[in-house]
Amino acid sequence: MRTIDHHIAGDPPAYTRFAHVFDPNTGAVQARVPLGTAETLETAVAAARRAQPGWAATNPQRRARVMFRFRELVEAQIDDLARLLSAEHGKVLADSRGDIQRGLEVIEFACGIPHAMKGEYTQGAGPGIDVYSMRVPLGIGAGITPFNFPAMIPMWMFGIAIACGNAFILKPSERDPSVPVRLAEILREAGAPEGILQVVHGDREMVEAILDHPEIAAVSFVGSTEVAQHVYARGTAAGKRVQAMGGAKNHGIVMPDADLDQVVADLVGAAFGSAGERCMALPVVVPVGAATAEALRERLVPAIHGLRIGISTDAEAHYGPVVNAAHRERIERYIQMGVDEGAELVVDGRGFTLQGHEDGFFIGPSFLDHVKPHMRSYQEEIFGPVLQMVRADSFEEALRLPSDHPYGNGVAIFTRNGHAAREFAHRVNVGMVGINVPIPVPVAYHTFGGWKRSAFGDINQHGPEGVRFWTRIKTVTQRWPDGTPDGSNAFVIPTMG
Ligand code: NAD
Repeated sequence: MRTIDHHIAGDPPAYTRFAHVFDPNTGAVQARVPLGTAETLETAVAAARRAQPGWAATNPQRRARVMFRFRELVEAQIDDLARLLSAEHGKVLADSRGDIQRGLEVIEFACGIPHAMKGEYTQGAGPGIDVYSMRVPLGIGAGITPFNFPAMIPMWMFGIAIACGNAFILKPSERDPSVPVRLAEILREAGAPEGILQVVHGDREMVEAILDHPEIAAVSFVGSTEVAQHVYARGTAAGKRVQAMGGAKNHGIVMPDADLDQVVADLVGAAFGSAGERCMALPVVVPVGAATAEALRERLVPAIHGLRIGISTDAEAHYGPVVNAAHRERIERYIQMGVDEGAELVVDGRGFTLQGHEDGFFIGPSFLDHVKPHMRSYQEEIFGPVLQMVRADSFEEALRLPSDHPYGNGVAIFTRNGHAAREFAHRVNVGMVGINVPIPVPVAYHTFGGWKRSAFGDINQHGPEGVRFWTRIKTVTQRWPDGTPDGSNAFVIPTMG
């Protein structure tokens, strides 16, 4: 069986454990991936330790040039990479290209690192005294990433960390590890020295080794909330800087004045695209007023029935299979939970099979109406092609739903009323807001991060916050005396007066 190896500058220790990598389209095992240990990590850290000082001393334009070349090389093979990504993840090819493209946008931001890392300077802060501060890399950083964006999320992290002068160790999801390895190979081709980007595979054992390793200065994590919280607690207890993004349950508020045809087109894409396996999906719709709810439902149901589920290479398919059989079962359990809790299952996607691909991990779209805020199936993340409708009587009630929900990643409002949109954006207790934009993932030169149980730590991903996360500040206060005593009392705290 094909083995998807670590990408380490050095010889990793002999493998003992493996995980299967499935083809979600067929359900077949297509490769295996070694699950690394603390010893594997040690090999990678040793290589990073050797490589990082020289890389940090490389001037920022040269580091940026590596990023420019990397961008060109990835762009040139985006179709091959998308095929590799779809074959392990299951998302359709156009969506895989989008996954890579959104990552490349962060690389484009990283190409501007000479400017983004510039420090500050104050001339004459005191008599003959100047002060300057500089941003310096942390040393060795690590990233732990989820299965759902195997290209974009690693690039969010390593693009900036490496451009800032750090060495980076990536622990991608063991479910779709091939694209992260290819990206590391391409960065080498682009001119990054050996040991600057390494990929170690593994599960909990590897994650804990990363969190406990004394030479890893910072950890960026994206995944489910329970793991994010654990990573944050353990990593910070070990003295590391940690940002840990978790799960989500994003709401789409539909005001009575919204263009409902546009809303339906946006909603089905945002709720069911990538089989709902996006942290910025819109799995909850909140129509305001009974008339809006009825009119929306009337249009939504045929649109949902019209969705085409297909293998990831089917250019006509709206979405493909979910990542594995266990995840499909979990989604189905949540649908049943919704029914048991009293919601109305209007469209039931369970039991769907795709002709010719009966063993693939497919699930049809589901739609539940009359979902209530106290239901567990509403409180928790499902992460599948399931849309839940929670009816609200007023704008205030609709505003409270996402604001009071435990997750606070993204939210969207659909309206033609600028005042309502502005009120909503200013008052909602959620980190990323869309106004007539169903999936408000911020562009690369802004920053990405949710609130509440969607993120632990307080520095966002990418953009200027990414540069803050992957550097620290050193401030120098200097004086070049000309030999004349300045008459100050050396026993008193110096002041600039
Ligand atoms: P996951 O939490 O299962 O895995 C994420 C990473 O943690 C993987 O690398 C995995 O190997 C590792 N891991 C898994 N279990 C672990 C454990 N017990 N201890 C230590 N490490 C562990 O998440 P996933 O299923 O790969 O991804 C889907 C989740 O990620 C969803 O909850 C989704 O909302 C979330 N997500 C969040 C964002 C965001 O920016 N907020 C973006 C994408 C995905």
